[in-house]
Amino acid sequence: MTEHVDVLIVGAGLSGIGAAHHLQAAFPRRSYAILEARDALGGTWDLFRYPGVRSDSDMHTLGYRFRPWTQDKAITDGPSILNYVRDAAAEAGLDRHIRYRHRVERAAWSTEDARWTVDAVSDGEPARFTAGFLFVCSGYYHYDVGYAPGFPGLERYQGAVVHPQQWPDDLDYAGKKIVVIGSGATAVTLVPALTDRAEHVTMLQRSPTYIAARPALDKIGATLTRRLGTRGGYAATRWKNVALSTYFFQLCRRRPDAVKSLLRKAAVAQLPPGYDVDTHFAPRYNPWDQRMCLAPDGDFFAAIRSGRADVVTDQIAEFTETGIRLQSGAELEADVVVTATGLRLLALGGMQLAVDGSDVTLADTMVYKGAMLSGVPNFTFTFGYTNSSWTLKADLVSQFGVRLLRYMDAHGYEQCVPVNDDPAVATRPMLDFQSGYVQRAIGDFPKSGSRGPWRVRMNYPRDVLTLRYGRINHPALKFTRRAAARRAAARVPAAS
Ligand SMILES: Cc1cc2nc3c(=O)[nH]c(=O)nc-3n(C[C@H](O)[C@H](O)[C@H](O)COP(=O)(O)OP(=O)(O)OC[C@H]3O[C@@H](n4cnc5c(N)ncnc54)[C@H](O)[C@@H]3O)c2cc1C
Repeated sequence: MTEHVDVLIVGAGLSGIGAAHHLQAAFPRRSYAILEARDALGGTWDLFRYPGVRSDSDMHTLGYRFRPWTQDKAITDGPSILNYVRDAAAEAGLDRHIRYRHRVERAAWSTEDARWTVDAVSDGEPARFTAGFLFVCSGYYHYDVGYAPGFPGLERYQGAVVHPQQWPDDLDYAGKKIVVIGSGATAVTLVPALTDRAEHVTMLQRSPTYIAARPALDKIGATLTRRLGTRGGYAATRWKNVALSTYFFQLCRRRPDAVKSLLRKAAVAQLPPGYDVDTHFAPRYNPWDQRMCLAPDGDFFAAIRSGRADVVTDQIAEFTETGIRLQSGAELEADVVVTATGLRLLALGGMQLAVDGSDVTLADTMVYKGAMLSGVPNFTFTFGYTNSSWTLKADLVSQFGVRLLRYMDAHGYEQCVPVNDDPAVATRPMLDFQSGYVQRAIGDFPKSGSRGPWRVRMNYPRDVLTLRYGRINHPALKFTRRAAARRAAARVPAAS
């Protein structure tokens, strides 16, 4: 049996729940469903269960624009974020629209019918839906497995090997020697968290990452909330944080050497005297060429000062029975090895798109206003910022989707599709980010264009102007009424 809804949302994570909120608030009578592959909502914040899992951006911007974050801590733990998303979903009854255990595999657009046919698999059985519009909120990485490079000799190692994406509930690491391989946000989160019970934790990194200490509590935010009330204080704190992070990002781009030296000084101040800062905390790249890591209240540095954690910068030669031999010849003993080696990026949750019988190759599409794809009708997708909170963008994309639907209603349109007919627009990778996990997969993602409206920007204030206030009837967005669309599909000339 095929079920029809007006709008189909794919994914019930932070973005999918946000999209459902915007949609339901704008069109209380429009039907919609959320197809979710897992049997829980929350996405990232339900999946990741490793000790200490937390945000590394502040909740005033990682939270939804429409739902104030009311706890004191701005940098908060994963379970609190999950509760926040669950509460948002339950309060407005959004969760009643979720179809759990529905993994979407294919979505095919028919111009003639002006609708999507979406094929999912639910408990091994096929399930089909049709919809007038798709909001894809499937996140950006594979849920099944994280990235794990093949380490020589790993099969010989007798200890436990754990990937943070599949942290075992029953892993007892009390009194154990742990090596965490990696230097990204997950490793920087795990190391101080594991020192609570482990005998010793070593972070083994091939090369250093920028780590900045920042208070977990936002005192200015708390004052703003006292003065302006919950909603006013939240909005003001949100804009304060947007302004600060935008300013800092621009400073990194324009004066990288000054920021490098600032970050180095801050690290020196946090580390024990005589610590080899230049080997372990001075990356070869410029700040924000890769994602910058955050240490709330300097927890990472405190773990090093306590002597219960250390950082080793070296390369793995091979695993031994009892640990890891390094290229320098040194050996690290380990009862547990955590491979915090990253995610495997995945565009659109692995869905195959097709338009009028032809499969869409994502790498051949271009992103329109950071929210749609060239040649793909009645479709938005959410891919958040890499230099700022994901949700800032997710909220804007949902609002843009709602504005688009309103515009189409008002003008009797049934199809809208971004079309690039400007030959001067060159293509670029969608993400201008040097991190290995991005470089490994970015070739399979849609492309950014060299100029607007095709350029993917990592700039919230500019996106506010484009997505929240920019005109909908841009010449690159082609609208058709149903009869016209049907004629075009059938290549029948319009009656004069
Ligand atoms: C450990 C970790 C920490 C992070 N910390 C931050 C942070 O501090 N700040 C920040 O801005 N960002 C952070 N991020 C990025 C984070 O993923 C986003 O903040 C946000 O949670 C993404 O929400 P989402 O709903 O778009 O995607 P997800 O959380 O990935 O949710 C996607 C949902 O879609 C479902 N899905 C995927 N494919 C399909 C399919 N084919 N069919 C049906 N359902 C599907 C998934 O099961 C999942 O439930 C972090 C990421 C990780 C992994």
